[in-house]
Amino acid sequence: MSNDKLIIFDTTLRDGEQSPGASMTKDEKVRIAKALEKLRVDVIEAGFPIASVGDFEAVKAVAETVTDSTVCGLARALDADIDRAGEALKNANSARIHTFIATSPIHMEHKLRMSPDQVVEQAVYAVKRARNFTDNVEFSAEDAGRSEIDFLCRVFEAVIDAGATTINVPDTVGYAMPWQFGDTIKQLIERVPNSDKAIFSVHCHNDLGLAVANSLAAVQNGARQVECTINGLGERAGNASLEELVMAVRTRHDVYDCETSIDTTQIVTCSKLVSNITGFAVQPNKAMSVRMHLHTSPVFTRMVYSRVVRPTRSCVHRMSAGRRTAWCSASTPGETLFVPASKSSGTSLRLRLN
Ligand SMILES: [Zn+2]
Repeated sequence: MSNDKLIIFDTTLRDGEQSPGASMTKDEKVRIAKALEKLRVDVIEAGFPIASVGDFEAVKAVAETVTDSTVCGLARALDADIDRAGEALKNANSARIHTFIATSPIHMEHKLRMSPDQVVEQAVYAVKRARNFTDNVEFSAEDAGRSEIDFLCRVFEAVIDAGATTINVPDTVGYAMPWQFGDTIKQLIERVPNSDKAIFSVHCHNDLGLAVANSLAAVQNGARQVECTINGLGERAGNASLEELVMAVRTRHDVYDCETSIDTTQIVTCSKLVSNITGFAVQPNKAMSVRMHLHTSPVFTRMVYSRVVRPTRSCVHRMSAGRRTAWCSASTPGETLFVPASKSSGTSLRLRLN
């Protein structure tokens, strides 16, 4: 089994901020970016520089602070957008420009008022222009879910030839089903003749609660970048949750033929920071969240402990046995945790971290 790298692209600062009420100041974005860097996220999408002066300044500040992660700026396939992103990122140690154009018939006709030929031409032009600023260029087909697969193949082949190094397939409105989305990614990778010259990426929304499942189906079918946010923050029902994706791939390494570089001991810190800054509380029993409850059943506890908690050494913050609750940081190897017996089962639990 090979161990491909799965690139973690965090868009908490860009797409996450689209949650109504989740806007962040420049300083807050820099604090989150530093935490993401410590988490060892590969790419931090810091904002949409053309959108406002504030966005531009925030992307610039993040680019000038972060050194270990690549810093990315979003740009429509327009000269002004791409130049503004290039300007914001010019001091980055490693910069990426992420440009996009709609590829669905409805968007091409009514929003862009462009023919399919013109869309291909504009996409190629945008990627080439972005390459003047950095050789790390991502292209997204907006509304890919409603686009014709033959047309997607055509656009992707053309932009890879023009120098795009990452091809992103978004499920913009969170409508896809896992088997369907996985099959689309498989077909694209098989049918685009130069697909081996780019990393295929996905960006899933959680309108039907399937953002993580759809992303994982794509990974199983060859995607090697996932776009996600801390705590699943994002517009409407949010984006795919970084912590759930990372832990699923790590825990079920028997299923997923790839690995991330994420330092999972930093997940809780990042989750709390994003929650505190945005004011978006995390659901107490959310998977891989700040607080995880362990069932009093020793079998279940061992299962959860060995498969999920141990690899992170940081996820357990509260352990419940019946009505009793033990708090622990669960961060020290060799530490023994003791949960007193519950009245109903009479079972005490001792857990040792290793
Ligand atoms: Zn999105």
